Amino acid sequence: MTRFRLIFLAILSGLLFVDAGIAGETILRQQGVHEHGAATLHVVVEGKKLHMKLITPAINIVGFEYNPNNMQQKEAVREAIETLEDARKVFKPATDAQCTVSHVEVKTGMMNDTNEKEMHSEFHAQYQFACDAPEKLNSIDVYIFKLFTGTEELDAQIISPKGQFLQELTASSAQLKL
Ligand SMILES: [Zn+2]
Repeated sequence: MTRFRLIFLAILSGLLFVDAGIAGETILRQQGVHEHGAATLHVVVEGKKLHMKLITPAINIVGFEYNPNNMQQKEAVREAIETLEDARKVFKPATDAQCTVSHVEVKTGMMNDTNEKEMHSEFHAQYQFACDAPEKLNSIDVYIFKLFTGTEELDAQIISPKGQFLQELTASSAQLKL
């Protein structure tokens, strides 16, 4: 089995878990060490569907990774979730592909009272778009770097009808090419 095949299966199983509503918890437990400043994006284009899964250390998003312990920090986490939930603010698929947002789910261990000892919290955000002209989906602008300046690089793993490949994005090169 090739590495890409494994990645594909991993992404697919992650996506399937979304419907069961247990993805966040499962992933948070599986996730080991993360690299501050770096984030991961899984992209799958399948028929008219565009799936994306963003996994990022909380420090990239709100500047800390422990559970918020005052109103200001709670507000920062709440605002970050709200921003990430606004898919159109985070990603802009090529206009000609005519994609609309069909599902968004943002999770973080930071607001979980039973999880107080979490030292390296993350945000996990899942997005699904429905695209009327998926054959014209040749790029996705990524605004993560502007929205969350603690993010320095984004490693994207892409699976589309054109193939399976990896792409690294930075603030100065923030467009995914599909
Ligand atoms: Zn960390």
